[in-house]
Amino acid sequence: MSYCVNCGVELDDTAAFCPLCHTPVHNPNQPVNQTAPKPFPTERKEVPPASKLQVAILLSTILASVAVCCGVLNVFLRTQRTWSLYVIGAALMIWIWTVPPLLHHRKDTFRLQLLADVLAIAVYVSLIAVDLDGWDWYWHLALPIILLLGALFLFWGLTMGRRKRSTLTSMTLVIGSIGVFILGVERFVDLFFLGHWSPGWSLIVLAVCVILIIPLIVVRRVPSLREEVRRRFHL
Ligand SMILES: [Zn+2]
Repeated sequence: MSYCVNCGVELDDTAAFCPLCHTPVHNPNQPVNQTAPKPFPTERKEVPPASKLQVAILLSTILASVAVCCGVLNVFLRTQRTWSLYVIGAALMIWIWTVPPLLHHRKDTFRLQLLADVLAIAVYVSLIAVDLDGWDWYWHLALPIILLLGALFLFWGLTMGRRKRSTLTSMTLVIGSIGVFILGVERFVDLFFLGHWSPGWSLIVLAVCVILIIPLIVVRRVPSLREEVRRRFHL
């Protein structure tokens, strides 16, 4: 057994250098054992990345078993409410959101996937409407807001997905579109509950968005300011 002359750590027989302070090991009574296997792996090995197909199968299995278990429980317990429909619907919705994007290239099929995502939400909320017997709020409140949300994501995907945008431009686009989205949400809420559109709280949100956007646009337009911001915030 050798000890490092510099830091005193106990050394393995195979160590030619102290693993902590890299001091060479010279012990005339016990030369470094060159033949014994090292106590640690000497070759770098790559952990194979989990295949997307396997993740997709795992996710599908988990979601399917949750849905089936809840369905069976619901049948056995014979409760009045078909609560398991909510769980099954949610499992289906999560499946549509997660599994297809794992199996294909997201960029090429962005619009198709977005359409499927929005449809999944619309169908899920319609399930709630069926259960609560409330088609009125579904058609006039929930569906318009879901479609507006889809439009928001479509806008983001089309403006930022194709080519790399600067952080400043992306922030301007995101903040601006959120302001418009909130305005749209209040429009549908007002039309449903009041019967007419009287913008209130959404105008405050929109004003805040505009206040945030103006300096972003100014900074983007003035090259010296843009460089200063880029340096300070590492954009
Ligand atoms: Zn040492």
